[in-house]
Amino acid sequence: MAEPGFTSSNGYTAPPAFAALRVKAIQSLLVDKGIVLQESMDEIADIYENQVGPHLGAGVIARAWTDPEFKARLLQDGTATLHEIDLSGFEGSHVVFVENTPTVHNVVTCTLCSCYPWVILGLPPSWFKAAPYRARIAYEPRKVLEEFGTSIPDDVEVRVWDSNAEIRYVVIPQRPSGTEGWDVDRLAQLVVRDSMLGTRVLAPIEGVSA
Ligand code: FE
Repeated sequence: MAEPGFTSSNGYTAPPAFAALRVKAIQSLLVDKGIVLQESMDEIADIYENQVGPHLGAGVIARAWTDPEFKARLLQDGTATLHEIDLSGFEGSHVVFVENTPTVHNVVTCTLCSCYPWVILGLPPSWFKAAPYRARIAYEPRKVLEEFGTSIPDDVEVRVWDSNAEIRYVVIPQRPSGTEGWDVDRLAQLVVRDSMLGTRVLAPIEGVSA
């Protein structure tokens, strides 16, 4: 069967998914009734598609790795600390950072829907919003993490954080070994999105000079 919106082999175009049609209908009504401006919606879409993204979170994590005092504040009050560096706004009203250590691995979900720290990670990946991830990560996290290629040793505790409309969690991954002496910009290049959600562990750096 063809994907919605794509032409199938018999020459017919499959209709868009129900959710996409519903969004279009609501959007049209809001614009027609003058409740929102089309330009405003385009601007918001542009911000989250092109300006806000995991590179913002990566910068925060790299700074936390190199500045213990900043990391302490981030863990104590993530929202206020992000505010200090002008990271605040939609879907970022209350952000809580949790730190991976040699004995604790954290992973983030939203079991109810898809609450996500848009303010520093941008738009959520489709797997984060998918029902199988949301349902299974809560009761068999190690198995789900294995499916992401992330194997957590038995002696490391796995903690699953359930985001909601008020609180969004972000993982501070462990700094990879072999990065001693690296500056913030260089470290930030290593921090991929999934490491800030806990579904990926950053590999040690080998054979690269400082
Ligand atoms: Fe949610």
